[in-house]
Amino acid sequence: MAPDRTAPQRLDFGAYYNVIGGRLATTTRTLASKNPSTLADNPPFPLSTADDVDQAVEAARSAAAQWAHTAWSERQAALVALAGAVEELSDDFAKLLVHEQGKPLWLARHEVAEAVRLLRGTAQLELPDTEIESVEAPYRRVFSRHVPLGVAVGIVPWNYPLYLAVGKLGPAVLAGNAFVLKPSPFTPYTGLKLAELAQRFFPPGVVQALGGDDRLGPLLTAHPGVDKVSFTGSTDTGKKVMAACSQTLKRVTLELGGNDAAVVCRSVDPAVVGPKVALLALINSGQICIAVKRVYVHASIFDAMLAAMIAFVKTLKLGDGLAGDDVMLGPVTNELQFAKVKDLLADITAQGQTIAVGSADVASADAAAGKGFFIAPAIVDNPPDTSRIVVEEPFGPVFPVLKWSDEADVVRRVNDTAAGLGASVWTTDMGQASRIGKQLKAGNVWINTHGELQANAPFAGHKASGVGVAFGTDGLKSYCNVQTVYMTHLDKE
Ligand code: NAD
Repeated sequence: MAPDRTAPQRLDFGAYYNVIGGRLATTTRTLASKNPSTLADNPPFPLSTADDVDQAVEAARSAAAQWAHTAWSERQAALVALAGAVEELSDDFAKLLVHEQGKPLWLARHEVAEAVRLLRGTAQLELPDTEIESVEAPYRRVFSRHVPLGVAVGIVPWNYPLYLAVGKLGPAVLAGNAFVLKPSPFTPYTGLKLAELAQRFFPPGVVQALGGDDRLGPLLTAHPGVDKVSFTGSTDTGKKVMAACSQTLKRVTLELGGNDAAVVCRSVDPAVVGPKVALLALINSGQICIAVKRVYVHASIFDAMLAAMIAFVKTLKLGDGLAGDDVMLGPVTNELQFAKVKDLLADITAQGQTIAVGSADVASADAAAGKGFFIAPAIVDNPPDTSRIVVEEPFGPVFPVLKWSDEADVVRRVNDTAAGLGASVWTTDMGQASRIGKQLKAGNVWINTHGELQANAPFAGHKASGVGVAFGTDGLKSYCNVQTVYMTHLDKE
């Protein structure tokens, strides 16, 4: 349907539109996601059709032709202005995140603050030309530069809807592309509002967003007018995205699932490290690609670490993210994920594995926290390496703690997975940290921390965790073609 009204000055957080060609657009049909804490319907959002996709891609193509020739500093300034506007509306964005994603308000505020930091950090990046050869007489200069691809699409999942959206929007437009955001149907609201807000700072068509169901992604990945798809989501969907993009040779970046391990060595104090590692496994109810998903603890401190983690987990209050400042964990975000995690818990029980804290009885967590998709955080005590909770990515508030005693063997066990997103080493011995760290097959290695990201550092997954790089100048380059220029002078006759 045609765009039907212009962007208002005040952002109305009660109504949600597509953003096409600088205008807000409605669609004939709409969808609504559920608040995962209360199961109440969130507001309607657009259900885009192939026609909406065509309109957005056409607007993007014409905007990209102009935007590619704007000064780098102008693009940087637009991103900084957008960051400031998001920051001003932090409270609205944070509450909206709680409604759509379920995370507690403190964490939603943190996501907004991190999104602002990421936009500002991205705005500081530069892509200078590379001098390859320069000779004065006879004149010859060879250099390479990065030129924008044209139209970039960002497809994002439901666990960090705002942060992941700006993580694609920022580098795409800074590099001189037009950008179309496709948020998850479970969490479309902050992404649509972000694009609406961006209309104040970018020319029409440079930043757009389309709401829709799971039919929308394939329309975008197949569209001949799209030059690049940056996808974050599951490994299975990532393979489909790559296959679809191959038909038109679109550039593709894939940020996919993880199964991050934390290797805890004998030198650490369990009372300090136990709560930290447990929090890094359970924050956002475990729904983070780079959450700790397997904890390998040295046998000499295993019991003390497990006890420290159990004690910490017992302090975590589960509930509606708006119910009070003491709520530390929300529900899982949607019914599909709820069913997946429940199935995993049922398998843990069926296999006779020990749940050290938490419960496979999801009904009791429901009763304690309300009627949403609540699952009490759970730790599985030393299950076999072949068990589903070790092999699969749970993407929920449950994780295994495993025992190790030989360094070479634990490195082998950590690497024995198709995933390769992140891994951490916890030790006071920095020699050991670097020795183990060098052997880990993962795109991100953290020492005595886990899950940190920053705009100027490349973020990539090894093995089945991804293709290509996000963030940093490498991430910026992924939104560009390389162009090499060979210059010489014609001799005067
Ligand atoms: P998902 O793969 O189901 O969906 C991701 C997005 O793809 C959604 O917007 C969805 O609508 C869209 N989509 C679905 N089918 C599509 C298709 N055929 N073509 C194009 N797009 C399609 O993932 P999810 O369940 O929303 O997210 C959870 C997964 O995301 C986890 O595996 C998690 O590890 C991963 N993740 C990875 C990172 C990372 O940076 N590596 C970050 C966050 C989440």
